Amino acid sequence: MKAVRFHQYGEAGELRYETVPDPEPLGDEVLIRVRACGVNHIDVMLRSGELRLPGQQPLPHILGMEVAGEVIAAGPEVRQFRSGDRVLAAVVTCGRCRFCRAGWEQLCDDRRMLGTQLPGGYAEQVKISERGVLPIPPGLSFEAAAASRTSFATAWHLLITRGRLQAGEVVLINSASSGVGSAGVQIAKLAGATVIATTSTAEKAERLSQLGADIVVNYRLQDVAEIVRRATEGRGIDFVFDMVGGETLTRSLELLTKRGRLALCGAVSERRATVDLISLFFREIEIIGSTGSTLQEVERVLQLVNQGKLRPIIDRLLPLSQAAEAHRLMEQGKLFGKLVLVPDALLEQSPTSTGASSMRR
Ligand SMILES: [Zn+2]
Repeated sequence: MKAVRFHQYGEAGELRYETVPDPEPLGDEVLIRVRACGVNHIDVMLRSGELRLPGQQPLPHILGMEVAGEVIAAGPEVRQFRSGDRVLAAVVTCGRCRFCRAGWEQLCDDRRMLGTQLPGGYAEQVKISERGVLPIPPGLSFEAAAASRTSFATAWHLLITRGRLQAGEVVLINSASSGVGSAGVQIAKLAGATVIATTSTAEKAERLSQLGADIVVNYRLQDVAEIVRRATEGRGIDFVFDMVGGETLTRSLELLTKRGRLALCGAVSERRATVDLISLFFREIEIIGSTGSTLQEVERVLQLVNQGKLRPIIDRLLPLSQAAEAHRLMEQGKLFGKLVLVPDALLEQSPTSTGASSMRR
């Protein structure tokens, strides 16, 4: 099959489109023909070598953590799926450790993600244990499913489960035009919150307004603190959704009202930040870490997408062979929403059946 691999850590140009052996499903594994694979910031960090995770696959490495496709073969122990099923796959957990037993499988001691520990979806085929597979609701396209899984479920876990967001609260979403940020805007609105979104260009600001953000701040031109102060009549915000880290996180903490919460699911600009601890304890501020999501949360957000209550935002589809270009676009911050890779043969076959034009805004 064709796949994109990198043989050493480095620039986007290290991603090579090449022929590799087909995976063979064993035991409880299903073999999935990839129809769409979401590109995530973690892919860029793994490729550059900036992020190394326990149990990472040896080089050459196949990225791609969220895969939508159809089952084409199954190992002898597979019980729930069969050929032809439309499925979504990303991560397998052990089901036995204390975190899995408590329903917190995002913290599983033996969590194996496609594209990190397991060869991922930058390929024509992927194999994974059926425990890491969910059916795609009828009516949802492969591209929409691949674009929805990580961004909506991550934002849901952060805002609703970890962050306990309530109707009527004021939320600041940093870097709101990213995949997870734009998902956060939609979920916060659905929860009845008032959303202040930050972004870097007028065009992205316009699109965030269309998504439902109440106030959009262009942080390159405008003073975020001043706008927050005016919008909340000096009271401060209740909640910050951050994935930027560094100075952005430091400044955001100062915008919170007493008892405010800041939850983060990434640190894409800088992993260290300065925190004024005296200000933190006097105001009873909470800083909350949030990682991934549970399968239950994924099912919930897919339901909401299928009902039209959440709308996947796909910046563009690219052929798998252009994965390096996909990474450059992501590194340059030129995307609004998700970038999805589609195997070249499928894009060539049916350029209009991919659903991209109806979802691209
Ligand atoms: Zn576990």
